Amino acid sequence: MTGVDAGQHICWSWIKRPALEMIVTEPSLEELEAQRRELFGQLADVGDFRRGSVHENYRRCGKSYCACAKVPGHPGHGPRLIWSRTGPGGKTRGRQIKPEEEQKVRAELEAYYRFAELSDQIVEVNEAICEARPPGASQPQPRPATPPAVPDGERGGSSSRSRRSSPPR
Ligand SMILES: [Zn+2]
Repeated sequence: MTGVDAGQHICWSWIKRPALEMIVTEPSLEELEAQRRELFGQLADVGDFRRGSVHENYRRCGKSYCACAKVPGHPGHGPRLIWSRTGPGGKTRGRQIKPEEEQKVRAELEAYYRFAELSDQIVEVNEAICEARPPGASQPQPRPATPPAVPDGERGGSSSRSRRSSPPR
C-alpha cells in the first residue's frame, strides 16, 4: 500500500505547483502565445543586421620621414573607420569601411541589438510557455495553411519583395 501512498503524494505536489504559479499573476498561456507571435512578427521586420562595432583608428605609415614618425605626439594617420566583430573562435576581425558606408553600417549594427533583444524576449516567452503548458496538452500552433503549389515562376511570399529579381530591360 505504500506504493499507492507515494503515488498520491507525488500527484498532489505536482498539481499544487501550477496552481501556485497562477496566483503569482502569470499571464495565461494564450496571452503568452500571443506575445510570442507578436515578437516573431517584430523579428521578421528587423531587416539587415550585423554584429560588432565601428571605431576610429589612427596608424603610422611606417615612413621614417613622415610627420607621423617625426612629430612627437602625432596620433598617426586617420581616422580610418573600422568595423570589427568577433568571428568564429573568438578572433576579432575588422574591415576598414568607407565614409559613405558608415551610416549604413551603424544602422545595421543597431538592428543587431534589436534582433538580439527580441530573440532574448522570445526565449523568455518560450520558457514561460513551456512552464505554463500542462504535460500532454497539444501545442496549438496554427500552421499557415500550406498554399497549394504555385504553378508559375512566382515563388511564395511577399510579392513586393521578390520584385527586384526581374531583369532590367
Ligand atoms: Zn605617416
